[in-house]
Order: sequence, then structure tokens, then C-alpha cells
Amino acid sequence: MELSKEVSLQSYNSFNITAISPTVYFLNELTDLEQLPDLTSKPFYILGEGSNTLFVDHLAPIIIKPNFKGVDIVEKNESYIVTVASGENWHELVNLCIEQEIYGLENLALIPGSVGAAPVQNIGAYGVDFSDFCVEVKWFDFINKRVKTLSNQECNFSYRNSIFKQALYNKGIITEVVLSFPKKWQANLSYAGLNDLEIVPSARQVMEKVISLRSAKLPDPNVLANAGSFFKNPIINENKLTDLLRVYPNIPSYRQQNGQVKIAAGWLIEQAGLKGYCSNGVGVHQNQALVLVNYSSNDGKEIVNLAQYVQQQVLIKFDILLSPEVRMVSAQGEKSFDSLLVKDERV
Ligand code: NAP
Repeated sequence: MELSKEVSLQSYNSFNITAISPTVYFLNELTDLEQLPDLTSKPFYILGEGSNTLFVDHLAPIIIKPNFKGVDIVEKNESYIVTVASGENWHELVNLCIEQEIYGLENLALIPGSVGAAPVQNIGAYGVDFSDFCVEVKWFDFINKRVKTLSNQECNFSYRNSIFKQALYNKGIITEVVLSFPKKWQANLSYAGLNDLEIVPSARQVMEKVISLRSAKLPDPNVLANAGSFFKNPIINENKLTDLLRVYPNIPSYRQQNGQVKIAAGWLIEQAGLKGYCSNGVGVHQNQALVLVNYSSNDGKEIVNLAQYVQQQVLIKFDILLSPEVRMVSAQGEKSFDSLLVKDERV
């Protein structure tokens, strides 16, 4: 295990915020886990590639940075079983699978972040979720100091959520995921941009289309600092949708299996007039309003202030409360967005 003191995290978060951590534990081998000190009484944060994290203070907590590597592929009669260490890069895994003619992840191309982060928020795009292929997650338990195996069902996956954000939050570290891909493959072309392809595409063609759609709309964090979608798409009930449709007949809405309705958060922000809005070196992206970008700020609080403003404007216009997908981290560890807000009695 490598240990570094007083580390600037600027290159470890895609918002490019300078925050100093007193200690970073870099875990390269599974045996490093046994050497981790007991951190239960201290604030700490487990950091993947930092593509969904906002450091909101100039100081950060103790950081644990798993960097386990390795991919193992086993061919079965009707499927491929792919076991991947949590420190692998997600998009490289998608590429590798396509190269090996293992299909299923193509809609999830170009999602930033590590493999270990994928189960935590059950990443998803273009109608496909991580949980669709996940068989098991291996997870090191801080209490028993042993690696446990959680089945797909035990991971409690739901929309951008899992047990790792809930009951097992900060109680251990994901070391590996086990994925299964049936050899019988059918493209998932349910989303706009994919459903108007003129040919029946190969998995590689789907992946290339997803890459071109994402690249056209989403800012590259290496060029313009951001953490992808900042807010989750809100889920509302049927009555609320009926009210909204009276005023906004074109509101994009997608019915869920439980009868509730998902609304496109980016559309709400755009309709609130905030696409391209800038303030204090941060802003709402000009092509995709769901993405908040950092042009020149060194202070994560500026992004929090912007997010609060966006949240307020959408609430005033639509009576819908957006909640962030991005995780907020202060010197005291992860914080809820609400706890960071400046209270405004007028709203
Ligand atoms: P879009 O086509 O402008 O649609 C806006 C939202 O509507 C999407 O977020 C999507 O929700 C939902 N949606 C669209 N078509 C749908 C359908 N046929 N069935 C159900 N829901 C539908 O979206 P976009 O911004 O270009 O993004 C396209 C995909 O990339 C989305 O799946 C989005 O989640 C994903 N993406 C993820 C990130 C990230 O950082 N996590 C960033 C950008 C885009 P869902 O998000 O629930 O799919």
C-alpha cells in the first residue's frame, strides 16, 4: 500500500477543484486492504476516478483510492462471464468486450469513471443499466476484514442507486464485479439517436453511435471540467404529470414500470432559461443543460451555489425539486446537498 500526505486532489476529480487531503491510501493489491488502519471514527471517502465527485471545501477528508487491476473472461455454452477488478476504467472495459465480441455494454460506452463506481450508482445510459449484466459484486468488509460476495439481488439495484449508497455505505470497498453476457445478443435501440439508425447495427456500430452522440452533446472533462449529469432525472406521479401537460404539452416524460413518470431534468433546466448560464467561473453547459461545468473556479462551493440556483429556478417554474447525482465531499466526509445550502426564506 502506498500512503501520501497533504495531497492535492486536483488531478483526481473531473471538476478540477483543488482540495487537499491529509492522507491518501492508494490500494494496488488486495492484500493492501488488510493494512488499512481502522478509519471508522475519522471522516474518509473512497474515491474512484473522481468523475462523479465534487469537493466542496479547500480541505478534503482522508481518501482511500482503490486501484485493483485485471480482467478475466470465461466462455460458457451460452454466455461469457467477465470478472473485472474495480480499478479498471469503465470505457476501456466496454471497448475490450466489443473487441472480444462480447456484446451488451455498447450503450454504456464513454461513461467516465472506474468499474468499481459502476455498481455504486448503477450507471446507466440509452436504456441499459449496469444491473442488467451484473451477476455478483465482491466487496471487502471493513468490520470482518474479508471479501464478501453479493448477488445481483443483494445489491438492491434501482435507478442510479444500490446498497453501496445505502446500508453498506462506507462499510467496505468494492474489489471486483462479475458480469454475464448472453451470446444471443440483440441491440437495445429504444432511445432517440439509436432508434433512427437505418441499418440493423452491429454492437460495434451501436457503440460508435453512442460515442458520437455523447461526444456531440457532452463536454470532455479533459477540456472543460465537469462531472457529467449533475442532477438525477426526477420521478413524479401521474397527477403531477397531468398538471404539467396542461401547461407544457411537450414535456419529455417516460413512464416507469411502477406507474410513475420520469421527466428529463435537462429539459426542465433548459426551459427555466438556464442553458449556457454562467456565474463566478462556473456554468450550465451550453449543449446539455444537465451538465454543470467549471470554467475557472478553484472553489467547489461555486458549483454548489450554481446548483442551488438551478434547483430553485426549476422549483419555482415547475414545482419539481431536482436532486444531485454528483456526490458532495467536505473535510468532514460526504455531505448531503441540502446540508450545504444557503437557506433562502423566500423560496
Ligand atoms: P436525452 O435523449 O436528451 O433525454 C433526456 C432524458 O430522458 C435522459 O436522461 C433519459 O433518462 C430520458 N430518456 C430519453 N429517452 C428515453 C426513453 N426512450 N426511455 C426512457 N427514458 C428516456 O438524453 P441525453 O442527455 O442525450 O442522454 C442520453 C443517455 O445518456 C441517457 O440515458 C443519459 O442517462 C445518459 N447520460 C448519462 C450521463 C451521466 O453522467 N450519467 C451524462 C449524460 C448522458 P435516463 O438518464 O434515465 O436514461
